[in-house]
Amino acid sequence: MKIKFLGAANTVTGSNYLITTNKYKFLIDCGLFQGNDKIEKLNYEDFKFDPWEIDFLILSHSHIDHSGRIPKLVKEGFKNRIFCTRPTLDLCEIMLKDSGKIHEAEAEWENRKRTRVGLEMIQPLYTAEDAEISMQYFNPVPYGEIVTINKDIKLRFRDAGHLLGSAIVELWIREDDEEKKLVFSGDLGVKDRPLLRNPDYIEEADYLIIESTYGNRLHENAKERITRLVDIILETTKRGGNVIIPSFAVGRTQEIIYELNKYYDDKEKSKEFLNIPVYIDSPLAISATDIFKKNSDFFDTEAKDFILSGDDPLDFPNLQLTRSVIESKKINTSSEPKIIISASGMCDAGRIKHHLKHNLWKQSTSVIFIGYQAQGTLGREIQEGAKMVKIFNEDIIVNAQIHSIEGFSGHADMNDLINWLSHFKAKPKKAFVVHGEKESTEHFSNLIIERFGLEAIVPRLDEVHELV
Ligand SMILES: [Zn+2]
Repeated sequence: MKIKFLGAANTVTGSNYLITTNKYKFLIDCGLFQGNDKIEKLNYEDFKFDPWEIDFLILSHSHIDHSGRIPKLVKEGFKNRIFCTRPTLDLCEIMLKDSGKIHEAEAEWENRKRTRVGLEMIQPLYTAEDAEISMQYFNPVPYGEIVTINKDIKLRFRDAGHLLGSAIVELWIREDDEEKKLVFSGDLGVKDRPLLRNPDYIEEADYLIIESTYGNRLHENAKERITRLVDIILETTKRGGNVIIPSFAVGRTQEIIYELNKYYDDKEKSKEFLNIPVYIDSPLAISATDIFKKNSDFFDTEAKDFILSGDDPLDFPNLQLTRSVIESKKINTSSEPKIIISASGMCDAGRIKHHLKHNLWKQSTSVIFIGYQAQGTLGREIQEGAKMVKIFNEDIIVNAQIHSIEGFSGHADMNDLINWLSHFKAKPKKAFVVHGEKESTEHFSNLIIERFGLEAIVPRLDEVHELV
């Protein structure tokens, strides 16, 4: 059996692994590369396998860097089952369609430019319709149940605590009368995250593929995240400024709503907060919130208790949902201090760019990053202290205060990853360290070699490793 690392190898995005046994070929994840132009170009390259030859696909979770090339895969001939959890299916339904719309809009914009200089038209990576078509192959399975995929391969999803529906993948693969266990950590969450259950521990694996987004960093104390967030909100609104929170539409936005709802419930503390409107300005985030509500069975006990007590954990009175463009534009016409939570989380697309354009130049504004900003994105540029940025081809000076609160991160930090690994009863034969930028993967692989005496490998893109 062998594994080929076709994405998220020495980088964070584009998660895609091809596993070949003597009888089968299958994929784990089929995500979009995200970041600068050079990285995103990879999405347009041909797959390095024949899509129609793939027997099945296992999807760890719905984030677009794990699922975002599925419509392309189906368009190019893949017609088999895609295994995932129920919330992953529901979230992919809106996320892939949204992604298709973005690709259509980008191609249209590019083609307008091309027409003017007489260049050949380009096709979108895929359309919203392609995304819709790909949904028929999704096959939801429950957490914790061993699923027989075929006579040689069994699968079990465990909770990864990273996003609603996110899974750690356990695979038992029989080849030449010998069974090997392969574990893919997926994106690993953190304990005590809002709404989500804690990540499950895994006790055994022959081969492990482990993420390392924060493999060289520690998060600040998660308990302080909401206090810091509220402090910045109150400080900013008191000086008449707006708070701009770039947030991933799916997952992070619902967690922020949940945290603010909890804060709102504390009537004494939240008095000042009551008058500040909180806008969720992202149609995708609003649809995702509905899907979260529909899948409340998968929430942790705290969130379920809110529901039992009659409180909707994803709603509070000063929360305003703006779906239409008209409503969205109206947000920037009022001078009243407000909180705007909008996507995309890394500021490279979507309505957040308009809000940054309208607010970055003002000294009274605060921008709060609550999620990971990949290299090459506008978010990373602002986070790293750029004094001037380009938005919609216009130079915008950055006078706003820039904050980063890491306590909201959906990813385990270095210590969480080490703790998760320490639950293995026997050490895996090999660990492949993926889904991290170079410094992070290298630091983390050295750390686990030292700590656990593991054979740890940082695979490069397109590298093949034998699993013997
Ligand atoms: Zn993720």
